[in-house]
Amino acid sequence: QAPLADIDPQIAEVLDQELGRQRSTLEMIASENFVPRAVLQAQGSVLTNKYAEGYPGKRYYGGCEYVDVAENLALDRAKSLFGAEYANVQSHSGASANAAVMHALARQGDKMLGLSLAHGGHLTHGMKINFSGRLYDVASYEVDPDTYRIDMDKVRERALEHRPEVIVAGWSAYPRQLDFQAFRDIADEVGAKLWVDMAHFAGLVAAGLHPNPVPFADVVSSTVHKTIGGPRSGFILGKEEYAKKLNSAVFPGQQGGPLMHVIAAKAVAFKLAASAEFKARQERTVRGAQILAERLLADDVANAGATVLTGGTDVHLVLVDLRNSALDGQQAEDLLHEVGITVNRNAVPFDPRPPMVTSGLRIGTPALATRGFGDAEFTEVADVIAEALKPGADVETLSARVKKLSDDFPLYEDLEQY
Ligand code: PLP
Repeated sequence: QAPLADIDPQIAEVLDQELGRQRSTLEMIASENFVPRAVLQAQGSVLTNKYAEGYPGKRYYGGCEYVDVAENLALDRAKSLFGAEYANVQSHSGASANAAVMHALARQGDKMLGLSLAHGGHLTHGMKINFSGRLYDVASYEVDPDTYRIDMDKVRERALEHRPEVIVAGWSAYPRQLDFQAFRDIADEVGAKLWVDMAHFAGLVAAGLHPNPVPFADVVSSTVHKTIGGPRSGFILGKEEYAKKLNSAVFPGQQGGPLMHVIAAKAVAFKLAASAEFKARQERTVRGAQILAERLLADDVANAGATVLTGGTDVHLVLVDLRNSALDGQQAEDLLHEVGITVNRNAVPFDPRPPMVTSGLRIGTPALATRGFGDAEFTEVADVIAEALKPGADVETLSARVKKLSDDFPLYEDLEQY
């Protein structure tokens, strides 16, 4: 059979160019990572051909004897990694996992309480035009205007006012750990179910560097592609008592056939996440974010009007507040792009600018830690970012420093093409 380059040279070129981009720039989008070759192989395999509606041993299609093995491995590994009684690994994405969780825990019109999108929550935690905001009666909690941290007394107040059926704890842009015990206590006080969305920090949990929400929550959802560094997809963990409801919420509630090639790749990612190498990588990830935060808190950056929200980080990302800087979020993102560092602009809490512009940056270290960066390299990249955020940044010199770092840490060397 003819190779992709012959059948579809335009798409082959896209893949080639994207590989080149990933190799030659520094990836600091907090939700991204580089999957290992083993994950690419599982995901790009013949398992993509297989329909397997249902669950292992109870499928609606024949010929599932091998994909059942893959799904059972993914389930066993997910449960063992996070100490969970129950797992479901069929969700196509984090958002579809979250839709299934709400489908299982609530009825249309029920009340839900989550972190406001503008303060670091996710679309699926109650944004108006998302399924969550359309199907459920949503109220939000916010971060404290002085500390920029979630104040559990305020969460309790909001819960007592709103009386939700479901409370969601989790975030897309928040640099600190959550107090799961306090969330549990509030949920119990108001008779709500506690759902934790650990999409961002799941890798840190697997490595023992972040409290594990599983013992506290009724249900935990996650993605596999952020700190874990597996295939783009989602999964759900929970107490055994929710097994039937969650399974039926995923299939047939939300989805048809599971993506068996992706499920096999999840199994690979969960296997790797139990290794000492993975733990060391997560340690470099968190340490890298701390190095970045320390550098961006220095006087020269503060004099340029930039600061780090909450004064540091406990996780894999740093939130930069540019409200007093000459640069807005869009300009800062563009400037770093010119230098060769990819980040995303991000609204800061109480942001005066519109969501397409913003006054902040979200900068993450997981992908560079996967690339092999340690303290020395994170110190260098932190300094490049600090210099870029100061007035009159010398883009050419900074680009040369970025090029040296990316040359020193080659990516996908054993991949002949894409
Ligand atoms: N939950 C959280 C907290 C997230 O940050 C994200 C992604 O950004 C998701 C869910 C959704 O994941 P996906 O993009 O795979 O749908």
